[in-house]
Amino acid sequence: MRVELLTVGDELLLGDTVNGNAAWLGRRLADHGVEVTRSVVVGDETDVIVEAVRAALGRADAVLTTGGLGPTYDDLTRDALAEAAGVPLVRDAGLEERLRERAAAAGRALQPMAFRMAEVPEGAGLLPNSAGTAPGLRVDLPGGTVYALPGVPSEMRTIMDEVVLPELAARAGLPVVARRTLRTAGVWESVIATRLAEVEAMPDVRLAYLPDPAEVKIRVTAAGPDAAARLAAAEARIRDLLGPVVYGVEDEALDRVVHRLLAARSATVAVAESITGGLIGAELTAMPGSSATFAGGAVTYATGLKARLLGVPGDLLAEHGAVHPDVAAAMAAGVRDRLGATYGLAVTGVAGPEPQDGRPVGTVFVGLAGPGESRTVVSPKLPVPGTGPEVRAVLRRMAVVHALELLRRTLLGVGPEVPAWDAREDREESG
Ligand code: ATP
Ligand code: MG
Repeated sequence: MRVELLTVGDELLLGDTVNGNAAWLGRRLADHGVEVTRSVVVGDETDVIVEAVRAALGRADAVLTTGGLGPTYDDLTRDALAEAAGVPLVRDAGLEERLRERAAAAGRALQPMAFRMAEVPEGAGLLPNSAGTAPGLRVDLPGGTVYALPGVPSEMRTIMDEVVLPELAARAGLPVVARRTLRTAGVWESVIATRLAEVEAMPDVRLAYLPDPAEVKIRVTAAGPDAAARLAAAEARIRDLLGPVVYGVEDEALDRVVHRLLAARSATVAVAESITGGLIGAELTAMPGSSATFAGGAVTYATGLKARLLGVPGDLLAEHGAVHPDVAAAMAAGVRDRLGATYGLAVTGVAGPEPQDGRPVGTVFVGLAGPGESRTVVSPKLPVPGTGPEVRAVLRRMAVVHALELLRRTLLGVGPEVPAWDAREDREESG
């Protein structure tokens, strides 16, 4: 089975929109063992779309298009498919009814233009869209099948996963596939990959590594009739090999895990932030119910405020500057005591572009004050991610992750230290 992609939209040609749909579709199809042989971008012009569809079906068995299914007059994909099939556009009574219902529910009058969304090329199949209004379309032509999906990424993905992929897989006689994403923090991608070599070697199991600043998502894919069992075996082995490095699955982000762990202990956390400027507090208040575990925070950016608001000893700051492990520890204990929280979490560091107090860009110290004793952890110097303007943002994100990860490990009682094999590699990679 050969598949071609056709993404439609002037905004893609002009560079106003990055073609994320083509990237996502390419990866998704490859994951499922479907070969994508060509990916083409065209503008909002009926003739050009018709020509591109015909050419694609001259080569491939199926074409996936995205975009141009909406109600406006620059949404031309349905017109182009009707023309390519040599059939008229016809009003679909069911779709029209659904549009009326939606408009009524929202208390809106239906614009005449909206009825375009109820029109389909005669004989086309509808691909249900559980994430939006406009369904996708399936049009069978002599050369193969066109699957037309909306341009809005969330809708496109939903229809793809719920309808198109199962259909393509069945048509191509492809094996059943099961997939799960495991989330890790604080350990290098290459370290994880080395550690998981034996899992990679398991039959019909594939691993993909998706790195974010200071985090790596491991996407595990298993194929075959017993895909679910293979997946479970692979996940169990990965958890054996990585231990507490795996903090969550699917879209379970670090802040949610930390919140859950704190809530289970009836504990709270207060934060003192310098380099992150409030990002940790933002992260810890992102989910509903966070008031049960998040006390509050202080953004103490100026060195003097670390003394005045948090009680960091002045002579410590005078001797070492603001970026020092003892300062991080004092900030953590200070914010814990002043805000009356169970834990105090503090971050101080150098985001650049210039070094500070003789410390290079990427130096970050995370301090954690626990309920009884106070402990400080010094993260290894973070690698400086290039030299561009994004360096600050990436470093700050890494600092957030390292801080939350330190809190998570402490709450689990597994200690902040990364295992020896991690630390050694960290030093090598960060140079
Ligand atoms: P709508 O009903 O919203 O008009 P549509 O099917 O007509 O949907 P478009 O109008 O082409 O789709 O695009 C809708 C939005 O989806 C665009 O504003 C853009 O943000 C996004 N989009 C479209 N194509 C792509 C693409 N290839 N990659 C990423 N985003 C896209
Ligand atoms: Mg549109």
